[in-house]
Amino acid sequence: MAQQVSAAVRTGPSRTEFREFPMPEVPEDGALMRVDAAGICGTDVKMYAAPKITAPVIMGHENIGVVVEAGTEFSERKGVREGDLVFVEHYLPCLTCDWCHQGEYRHCEATDWRLNPDAIRYGYTSAERPPHLWGGFAQYLYLPWNAVVHKVPAGVSAELAGLVTPMSNGIEWALFDCGVGYDSTVLIQGPGQQGLSQVVACKQAGASLIIVTGTSKDAARMEVARTLGADHVVNVDQDDPLERVRDITGGKGVDVVLDCTAGAGRTPVLLGVEALKRRGGTLLVQGELATFPDFPLAKVTEKATTIKSARGHSYRACELALRQLASDRFRLDLMTTHTFGLKDVDLAIKSVGGQGAEGVIHVNLLPWKDAP
Ligand SMILES: [Zn+2]
Ligand SMILES: [Zn+2]
Repeated sequence: MAQQVSAAVRTGPSRTEFREFPMPEVPEDGALMRVDAAGICGTDVKMYAAPKITAPVIMGHENIGVVVEAGTEFSERKGVREGDLVFVEHYLPCLTCDWCHQGEYRHCEATDWRLNPDAIRYGYTSAERPPHLWGGFAQYLYLPWNAVVHKVPAGVSAELAGLVTPMSNGIEWALFDCGVGYDSTVLIQGPGQQGLSQVVACKQAGASLIIVTGTSKDAARMEVARTLGADHVVNVDQDDPLERVRDITGGKGVDVVLDCTAGAGRTPVLLGVEALKRRGGTLLVQGELATFPDFPLAKVTEKATTIKSARGHSYRACELALRQLASDRFRLDLMTTHTFGLKDVDLAIKSVGGQGAEGVIHVNLLPWKDAP
């Protein structure tokens, strides 16, 4: 095995340097994974352009690869062996706090950089911290005792498994958080990788009506939304989306609205409030608006709306996402549109942000593509 590991390190806003790190020693309770695919999401676009962590960071938090070296204890504890293809969650939880004991380790402070400066999370941890390999934009990833690994089912490629994170978010947010199920009516705003994953989750769960909104730029994505099961697509540049939702639902509105516009601001939230049914609908929100002037609280209260926050995924959602990928029931290959090698990481991230390659839905960085 090589003695040095190549990695793309973010050293400032929209700045990447390529560095080599020593191959780590693998202890009895740890392992090393060769990174075969690292998915890139909207958060990466934001964190690359305006990093909230100033230390140099190997980004990449949606990681799939082969366990190339595993300590005995690690193998026994995790049930994985050298040679297994695995998906590694980005959380590295303490496994002792209340949240961890409940299995909700996405809320564990040990792995949340927003709450804890010493937190460790793949893609959000200083590369200066030994053993350095804390992100997927590198040839290898270090797996400590508390890594959360899922075996990738046979027949699912690393590239397809790159969809596990958006797919598991789809399952977590639409099904677990918002209760979408048999006969539900749903409005999904935004036809990106996240919105399309919600379409699949809602369709699989039995939703009877799925409406997806997008803009004129999203024509190709809207076609994919239709193929994956959307009943109606609405171009908000051409049509008034609220009018369309009212037409389609006979004036009733929908049970659930999911904002997958990557935090496009107030507009999707306001549309969501209006598009929900008269009583008891559920609105999933995300984004980073610090304040929301004129938030229609009276209307939300009057409609008895439940607001849920998009906040990662659980172990179960990841397992279900992997099974969804293995089922081959939906044309998920339509979503895995682009791959880039390590040297093109800058272009890869910018392409996800709409400033690079054309026709992007989901992008995988393949650290071994074009490797010498
Ligand atoms: Zn992500
Ligand atoms: Zn914990």
